[in-house]
Amino acid sequence: MATDKKGLVFDIEEFGIYDGPGIRTVVFLKGCPLRCMWCQNPEGWHNYPERMVSSRCIHCGTCKRVCPHPDKCVACGTCLPYCPVNAISIAGEYLTSSELAEKILANAQLLKLNGGGVTFTGGECLIQTPFVLEVRNKLQGIHCAIETSGYADSQTFTAMIKAMDLVMFDIKQTDPVIHRKYIGEDNIQIHENLRILMQSGVPFIIRIPLIPGVNDTDENFRMTAEWIKDAKNLMYVEMLPYNRSAGAKYKMLGLEYKPTFDEKAEPKINTAFFEKYGIKVKVM
Ligand code: SF4
Ligand code: SF4
Repeated sequence: MATDKKGLVFDIEEFGIYDGPGIRTVVFLKGCPLRCMWCQNPEGWHNYPERMVSSRCIHCGTCKRVCPHPDKCVACGTCLPYCPVNAISIAGEYLTSSELAEKILANAQLLKLNGGGVTFTGGECLIQTPFVLEVRNKLQGIHCAIETSGYADSQTFTAMIKAMDLVMFDIKQTDPVIHRKYIGEDNIQIHENLRILMQSGVPFIIRIPLIPGVNDTDENFRMTAEWIKDAKNLMYVEMLPYNRSAGAKYKMLGLEYKPTFDEKAEPKINTAFFEKYGIKVKVM
């Protein structure tokens, strides 16, 4: 009997144009083992639903009065319709693979006509690999991509990339010590998975978020180019300058955005180390 696994999704963006070729449905999956200091989607960190309260809140206290779980919010959503200013939302909805596939297939013609498809991202989509693979099986004929930090065991990573038409792989920092400082873990496993990707034949794009003072150094650009220079299946490199509104959602989750790098500085852009090896770079 065909299985119908459940996954936890915190957003589905339709008609996306930044996460892979053409027009795409972008599926944001909850759960991430990393904590990039510049993360702009903190609602993607935990693998359980969470309540978010926007700045529209007028502190009327109604949600507290109707809450059946006064000791600890369990994101049940009971308070949501009582809020007079619609300030409450729940990040994270459980969907079966059939339900998610059905939503994606509703736009199948449009995605195909525009050379697009679906991109699974997060959070870190590798956390929900069995679910993503099941959805992927239900999307025959649709171009499927993942956008990933590459942080997972090699078996999981290999299973995921083999099922994809395209992999967008982040290289945030090549130095393992700096990587751990700003991202929460070192990059040893990420580098190992990059090697697997380079051998796999699956087309891939490298994405580099440009964070001022963290990874926009000549040494990091040089090492990144060294890591990928021999890949036959590399399409190009994308550089994504730091998004100054990255901290916007933290307060909604009761968190504080605390970057220790200079948010106001312009990130340095140097494409020369890549061009030296004939690698095309797109600055987004
Ligand atoms: S989402 Fe549920 S548990 Fe959380 S505050 Fe609202 S009613 Fe209470
Ligand atoms: S979230 Fe809505 S219901 Fe709760 S205190 Fe704020 S305004 Fe009132």
